Amino acid sequence: PFEVLVIGGGPAGASAAIYTARKGFSTGIAAERFGGQVQDTMGIENFISVPYTEGPKLAAALETHVGEYDIDVMNLLRAEKLIPAAQLGGYHEVVFENGASLKARSLVLSTGARWRNLGVPGEAEYQTKGVAYCPHCDGPLFKGKRVAVIGGGNSGVEAAIDLALIVGHVTLIEFDSQLRADQVLQDKLRSFANVDIIVSAQTTEVTGDGEKVNGLSYKDRESGEEKHVELEGVFVQIGLVPNTEWLKDSGVELSPRGEIVIDAKGATNLPGVFAAGDATTVPYKQIIISMGEGAKAALSAFDYLIRNEAP
Ligand code: FAD
Repeated sequence: PFEVLVIGGGPAGASAAIYTARKGFSTGIAAERFGGQVQDTMGIENFISVPYTEGPKLAAALETHVGEYDIDVMNLLRAEKLIPAAQLGGYHEVVFENGASLKARSLVLSTGARWRNLGVPGEAEYQTKGVAYCPHCDGPLFKGKRVAVIGGGNSGVEAAIDLALIVGHVTLIEFDSQLRADQVLQDKLRSFANVDIIVSAQTTEVTGDGEKVNGLSYKDRESGEEKHVELEGVFVQIGLVPNTEWLKDSGVELSPRGEIVIDAKGATNLPGVFAAGDATTVPYKQIIISMGEGAKAALSAFDYLIRNEAP
């Protein structure tokens, strides 16, 4: 058994494990894929103090840093179930897909999230070649260019406002007959001269020249007509889904969107169970934020362990 078991090996999990190992606690990381979303990222320009890096390089750096400590890294392990401790200070159990199970007095849940995909032809092919999911990350790459934002909820409209200040032109595409974002955001978006809003539009394809994106096809759901817009970038903003399905019956409180509810210290509703990063209710999902959150959850786990002896 461990004193601290971290579930998930992205920036949040790596950070949490380093912090608890540095406190001298026996620490394990169980992750389906060490590195997390960072493994799928090309250029990273907003990891402060590192002007430019790339996902696989940052993932390797996380691994090296974790390797500096006596941390048991168990990769390719997918958690399926959490059984909370029966008593304060007792052992929580995590059961994995392969039937194995691990126990620890304290847990840090950092299973991250995934962007919801459109699932149309061209989307996967042109990922990082014009298809993007994070305006904070990739917006500046499209300076002066034409982009589309797919999705008229709060995140889509926020992304469109953000991008309208940087890029040449934004086309916002919404499937429904009206935008779902808060009115104040819609009003703000409509105040830009370089924004077109298209509703009742079903995206059917991201087109490209084999190298990069050159446009987007959609079906007008009212007339049934197929249309095409020429542009260089497509931001997909139809939802970020937390990887928390495995916690459904665990007793860990989840928000209506499935995010693990945490307080200002990274604590969940269960004593000894902490959480960090994209899987949680923390506002803004970013690498630098996830790392800070991981550190915070780890220090809270430390605090919990020194105050609660094993029964
Ligand atoms: P994740 O990175 O999602 O890691 C989650 C970990 O949990 C992984 O190891 C995963 O395998 C594991 N896991 C999931 N489910 C289970 C399970 N059931 N059992 C065990 N393990 C599990 N942010 C920036 O700051 N700058 C950028 O430029 C940037 N670009 C991005 C580009 C792309 C294409 C994407 C997808 C994201 C980008 N982000 C960027 C966002 C950033 O990657 C995330 O905010 C960050 O990785 C979140 O860290 P995390 O540790 O919370 O979760």
